[in-house]
Amino acid sequence: MRILIVEDEIKVARFIENGLRENAYTTKWAKNCVEANDYLAEGGYDLIILDLGLPDGDGLDLLRDWRTCGFNEPVLILSARDSLDDRVKGLNIGADDYLPKPFSFTELLARARSQLRRSSQVRQSVLEYRGIKMDLLAHTVSYGDRSIDLTNREFALLEILLQNKGRVLTRTQIGEKIWDAHYDMQSNLIDVYVRKLRNMFPEHKDPPLIKTLRGVGYSIP
Ligand code: CA
Repeated sequence: MRILIVEDEIKVARFIENGLRENAYTTKWAKNCVEANDYLAEGGYDLIILDLGLPDGDGLDLLRDWRTCGFNEPVLILSARDSLDDRVKGLNIGADDYLPKPFSFTELLARARSQLRRSSQVRQSVLEYRGIKMDLLAHTVSYGDRSIDLTNREFALLEILLQNKGRVLTRTQIGEKIWDAHYDMQSNLIDVYVRKLRNMFPEHKDPPLIKTLRGVGYSIP
């Protein structure tokens, strides 16, 4: 599951990102309104964590614009503005939850999960393919009766391939989604992960679970 973090303070953003990644979520960090709009327009986010005091605008205006334009992703406001008035305003504009700063990560995680649970009742939270069952909320993968242990990155890779079934994803697209800006496009890490995933499902040798398109990328056909 992918979470967009809109936050201008690098320390806070890193703290949230690290915590969420440890819990197997994929994150993207936007440090201002312009970036937030760009990333949201790319689509594919399951939750947005939104700060209000941003260097190039107000998070509430951003949220109002999103809702007017039909972006329905769940939004959790995380802000130092914590008066009753602020909270009511945020919720009225279209936020789904409001957590005042300072916050505990445990509470943020619990609230994020509750939003993801609600939205996944609308969206698909279990992906199934050729006997593989992937539960995005419980973070479990099974094949028949066998449960399969995946690391966070392996899980994220399988998830984006299954969610884009039938489409070819380039190595750049995969790298950006899973490693964010930290991925070195020269490295062969993605190939290593693809090989590891294939080996976990020996039943799917022919045709292979993940198809390689030489010089282009990968797909689950
Ligand atoms: Ca701020």
